[in-house]
Amino acid sequence: MKRYSAFAIAREALRNHTGWQRAWASPEPRAKYDVIIIGAGGHGLATAYYLGKNFGITNVAVLEKGWLGGGNTGRNTTIIRSNYLQDPSAAIYEKARSLYETLSQDLNYNIMFSPRGVMMLAQTQAEVRGYERTAHANALQGVKTEFVAPDRVKLLCPIINIDGPRYPVLGALWQARGGTARHDAVAWGYARACSQMGMHIIQRCEVTGVRREGGRVTGVSTTRGDIGCDKLGIVVAGHSGHVAEMAGFRLPLESVALQALVSEPIKPCMDVVVMANTVHGYMSQSDKGEMVIGGGTDGFNNYTQRGSFHHIEETVRALVETFPMISRLKMLRQWGGIVDMTGDRSPILSKTPLEGCYINCGWGTGGFKSIPGSGWGMAELMAKGASPLTAAFGLERFREGRFIDESVAAGVAH
Ligand SMILES: Cc1cc2nc3c(=O)[nH]c(=O)nc-3n(C[C@H](O)[C@H](O)[C@H](O)COP(=O)(O)OP(=O)(O)OC[C@H]3O[C@@H](n4cnc5c(N)ncnc54)[C@H](O)[C@@H]3O)c2cc1C
Repeated sequence: MKRYSAFAIAREALRNHTGWQRAWASPEPRAKYDVIIIGAGGHGLATAYYLGKNFGITNVAVLEKGWLGGGNTGRNTTIIRSNYLQDPSAAIYEKARSLYETLSQDLNYNIMFSPRGVMMLAQTQAEVRGYERTAHANALQGVKTEFVAPDRVKLLCPIINIDGPRYPVLGALWQARGGTARHDAVAWGYARACSQMGMHIIQRCEVTGVRREGGRVTGVSTTRGDIGCDKLGIVVAGHSGHVAEMAGFRLPLESVALQALVSEPIKPCMDVVVMANTVHGYMSQSDKGEMVIGGGTDGFNNYTQRGSFHHIEETVRALVETFPMISRLKMLRQWGGIVDMTGDRSPILSKTPLEGCYINCGWGTGGFKSIPGSGWGMAELMAKGASPLTAAFGLERFREGRFIDESVAAGVAH
């Protein structure tokens, strides 16, 4: 496959763009692979990519029931940060953030990483203490964050009303190298790189059963026939409980709809990402000028990819309070995704009771930011049976009561 470069763009401009190749192949499934990954979202594709890149395992198929990146990966608000409280979280999220810094070069695909800075507003004394604590924890973990005063908040984001009618801004947890990336491009970039290594990405191929023999996985049944494998990775976010049931085990997860919306495009007015936990809403401005707004999760389990209407009202009310200048903007579109929530708001990257079967799920409202780190760790876990990045995130922690409580860091959906 030809590399993308400035020279290639110039060459194709001169010949009417007739020389571009397909970004990835659409092959027919083989009878058997060394590894099958279920789910062509960011986490599944990144797992496949690092299996090939770091361990030379390329006889891999990624099976997707819909289209590539059509799950939460293509529906999220793209916030990237690593300012979590607990050490295992900081390690995997910071690994991901640092991989994002050079991912465009690594994949030879522009994922539009924009480290514009992420600010989490403190609007109560409890939040001030919580974020100061996180800043201290981050300093020990080698994650660069700082707690900033209200005047710095105003300087970084002039459109914020720091005197807020209900909750004045008392400061913020600021991560200068946090930011955003283009979500589709992350999925497409990994897919292209996997295809280039000879892996099969098979879309419109729903897994309907997990085949096993003597407690070991032997393959999957799909809408395109049975396919064998030595190892299986289940990476299906909101559908994890459903697919785990096919493999014969249960997960401590709930699936709920999380929604987002964008406004009509306006001139650039905000060059940071702001999250307001107390009033609950978060906002950034896309390169097209739309204000990208994140809402909350539905308060009940469901599999709709819409989200309930009253959340739009609640989120917009919270953000109008924080950014009064958006009050007359029109909403352009709204959508939702199904997120998989664990009780401690931390993910599961784990072996399972079925030998040869691994699971990566539970990223809930915040797994876009972790895609490269999660793929890196999951690939190591699947290739070697253990990884320092995933060690704390095993399924056994729920039985042993060893929770990784990130309910504050993940308190606002992001
Ligand atoms: C509205 C919204 C906003 C968000 N904002 C942020 C944010 O700002 N920052 C952040 O870090 N995170 C955010 N998230 C969370 C983030 O999007 C997810 O954690 C992440 O994308 C999960 O990626 P994934 O690859 O695990 O899942 P997905 O991208 O959902 O991929 C799973 C894939 O598995 C496929 N699949 C399911 N069942 C089967 C089957 N039986 N057979 C074959 N394929 C199957 C699905 O079709 C899907 O494509 C947000 C999520 C939503 C919904």
